[in-house]
Amino acid sequence: MSFTVAIIGRPNVGKSTLFNRLVGKKLALVDDQPGVTRDRRAGEARLGDLNFTVIDTAGLEEGDSASLTGRMRAQTEAAIEEADAIFFVMDARAGATPEDRHFASLVRRAGKPVILLANKAEGRVGEAGAYEGFDLGLGDPVALSAEHGDGFAELFSCLLTAL
Ligand code: GDP
Ligand code: MG
Repeated sequence: MSFTVAIIGRPNVGKSTLFNRLVGKKLALVDDQPGVTRDRRAGEARLGDLNFTVIDTAGLEEGDSASLTGRMRAQTEAAIEEADAIFFVMDARAGATPEDRHFASLVRRAGKPVILLANKAEGRVGEAGAYEGFDLGLGDPVALSAEHGDGFAELFSCLLTAL
């Protein structure tokens, strides 16, 4: 089985960190500055015994301060179009923001399988914010730490169910 998963979400939620962990190489640039990934990029991901193509999306270009620019929207829509399934990433520490809701509405419209990931959820600090994820209308959030590698077994079983 060959399939493609797009990683979607607003800037700085940890999309590139997740991409790097799935691909196992430092292909995507990770930075504290939101939106440092400039283009969509694809890699070969492995999760459990699944191999698939994963697409990392940039948010904003550096220096771009608009919340949801045309370019960002176009890129997100292109990635959604290419994908068989979507990993929608939110920041569990920040909770659901208005920008998350904009992205969530783009994703819902596509009608493709979506897994909601509440990232940065290591420890207890992410729990409250992860609950806000229920509001996004994308199903139950999977608590994840892309940086520390927590939650990937659950992500694997959710992906198996979603496909
Ligand atoms: P992107 O803009 O969505 O691609 O986000 P990045 O992957 O570039 O990450 C943005 C920031 O969040 C960086 O400082 C990362 O180190 C941090 N980050 C990513 N994943 C996690 C995580 O699981 N836990 C914590 N605490 N920080 C994370
Ligand atoms: Mg990035």
